[in-house]
Amino acid sequence: MIKFLDLQKINEVYKSDFENALKSVLESGWFIMGKEVLQFENDYAQYCGTKHCIGVANGLDALTLIIRAYKEMGIFADGDEVIVPANTYIASILSVSANNLVPVLVEPEEDSYNIDPTQIEKIITTKTKAILAVNLYGQAANMEQLRKIAFKNNLKLIEDAAQSHGALHHGQRSGSLGDAAGHSFYPGKNLGALGDGGAITTNDNELAMMLRAIHNYGSFKKYENIYKGMNSRLDELQAAFLIIKLRNLDNDNLKRSKIAEQYLAKITNPLLLLPVVKSYDQHVWHLFVVRVADRENFQLHLNNNGVQTLIHYPIAPHHQLAYKEFAHLSFPITEKIHREVLSLPISPVLTETEVAEIIRVVNQYRP
Ligand SMILES: *Cc1c(COP(=O)(O)O)cnc(C)c1O
Repeated sequence: MIKFLDLQKINEVYKSDFENALKSVLESGWFIMGKEVLQFENDYAQYCGTKHCIGVANGLDALTLIIRAYKEMGIFADGDEVIVPANTYIASILSVSANNLVPVLVEPEEDSYNIDPTQIEKIITTKTKAILAVNLYGQAANMEQLRKIAFKNNLKLIEDAAQSHGALHHGQRSGSLGDAAGHSFYPGKNLGALGDGGAITTNDNELAMMLRAIHNYGSFKKYENIYKGMNSRLDELQAAFLIIKLRNLDNDNLKRSKIAEQYLAKITNPLLLLPVVKSYDQHVWHLFVVRVADRENFQLHLNNNGVQTLIHYPIAPHHQLAYKEFAHLSFPITEKIHREVLSLPISPVLTETEVAEIIRVVNQYRP
């Protein structure tokens, strides 16, 4: 069986570096917000091309904290609206409702699966305060267009960069494309830790300062709490591992894109719709997602022939029980995408032989 994602193999090459990192943290005796976190924050800010990076506990917290910080700054208030894609992982939407703001869902473009900028201005109200764009599957949303809309309507533009570490949009790095970005280092992401982790990147000094307080109990100085903060910190040990993996991120992304190139060139089965890369984007292929009308059959065929696949995502957020209040809404493009998408294996450790076999099995499929 060709695994969808072999996390053991992805991390095994770092074994001795990880062991040294563990030893160094262990010997330092400092386990929370020490020099590893500081170094990772500096490295990652530099990588993204932003002034600030704040390590946090996970990707959902990163997004939630950005919105919380804007509330503490008096820029957002309870009941304000945030425009989010209907076609996303549920975390993007949870970060809005967790702050007592209202997520307003928007359909994606059918080719990129990312939020459709042409559908936004018609739903802006006096309560709209932000656009939260998601760079789904590893390709940036149309941030250039979104930036124009945000500027014109005085909205904040927040980037959910959980799937797009290293992606470029008009030559500019994901994480620096909006006012602030939330990143996840969940093990399966392109830059994955050995557990949970996350970060926020921004060029906004005031926001960065607020985030530094509220991610650490609302405090700049121990036992002096200025805000009702959270405890959401990046682990010292995870930071030490991430410093090591960040050095290899571009190389890993290059390997992913070589595989994607092969898939795009050699998958010729007319029953499949392949991903579309915009001319101004450098995709980092967190996922290689194809579409097929009879997905169940196709997935069964792949599984029977030794290729493991996953669905990202099987249930649209507005159809989740958690969002019963959205159940009456209709998003035909989002719903169609959720019925048809299937993710093929892609990772820096997939071998030439495995890629060739996947292509063969995919092309062989007939209903
Ligand atoms: C993974 C992911 C998140 C959440 O990250 P966690 O670290 O799991 O909390 C948010 N948004 C998107 C699009 C994701 O893929």
